[in-house]
Amino acid sequence: MNDHAADWEGCAPLRADLALALRAAFHHDLAEGVCNHFSVALPDGSDRFLINPRGLAWDEVGARDIVMVDVAGEKLAGRHEVESTAMFIHAGVHRIARKTCVLHTHMPYATALTLTEARALDTALSQNAMRFHGRLAVDRAYNGLALDATEGDRIARAMNGADVVFLANHGVIVCGTRVDYAYDDLYYLERACEAQVLAMSTGSRLAPVAEPVAAKVAAQMVGEQLQATLIFESLRRRFQEPRRPWSEGWARLRWPRISGEGRDDAVALRGGGFSGPGRDGFGRDDLGRDDLAGRQTLRLRRLAQGPGRQ
Ligand SMILES: [Zn+2]
Repeated sequence: MNDHAADWEGCAPLRADLALALRAAFHHDLAEGVCNHFSVALPDGSDRFLINPRGLAWDEVGARDIVMVDVAGEKLAGRHEVESTAMFIHAGVHRIARKTCVLHTHMPYATALTLTEARALDTALSQNAMRFHGRLAVDRAYNGLALDATEGDRIARAMNGADVVFLANHGVIVCGTRVDYAYDDLYYLERACEAQVLAMSTGSRLAPVAEPVAAKVAAQMVGEQLQATLIFESLRRRFQEPRRPWSEGWARLRWPRISGEGRDDAVALRGGGFSGPGRDGFGRDDLGRDDLAGRQTLRLRRLAQGPGRQ
């Protein structure tokens, strides 16, 4: 039997990578509200997945915000809730298409191309587009919001082994064997789509290269995967774990706990008040910051307790 909490702790590096991909995607304008999900399968083949939580914008997500779910989207570990529909698309792609990392976005330029008759990027146009030559699929069956698992099953079958699928009138899914590889493809897919949309907006006829040239570039790019890792490490240096000193600190100020000397209070006052309920769970201040919110809580408690009890 799986020990979900222990495995959740054990996969901290994978959670950090997934959270980093989300924050980078926000900064690259690939995000939309608090919608869409990035998921990655645990490497033990247990059909458990890491996914972003409900209600957090992507630039808010740190490693400790990532949630572990099963194939039905039921939460197994993590401090946040998960959107019940989050796995409707992702589960099928993981389970049927056997993809490790699944990134779904409504990023604007790729989505714009799903609205065209072709439904997808022309992989013989820009050099960025050629890396996707022979790696794309199109799911032309748009049936409204994904409200059950059949959506993911249909998309997974439409992929037919492809790494990227354009979803008609909807968005895209980019898959990879690792988070850094998948993110690199996601980023360059949007850049390639942007170039094509801009080129189309000129009204001039487009000038694709011959098919063998596009195929050659795609093959060349396979040998350039180190670039994906290097870029991801650059992103790691630039988009560090988010600081949210007030998110739960304000909650403590509005509803200060004054009725006892509970362990949570003690943890908060030592510096765990930034991020959660307990140092042994999720409450540790990973960055070792001064806990201003905790100290303000202490002041409120002292006021409530009255003189002589300090
Ligand atoms: Zn979507």
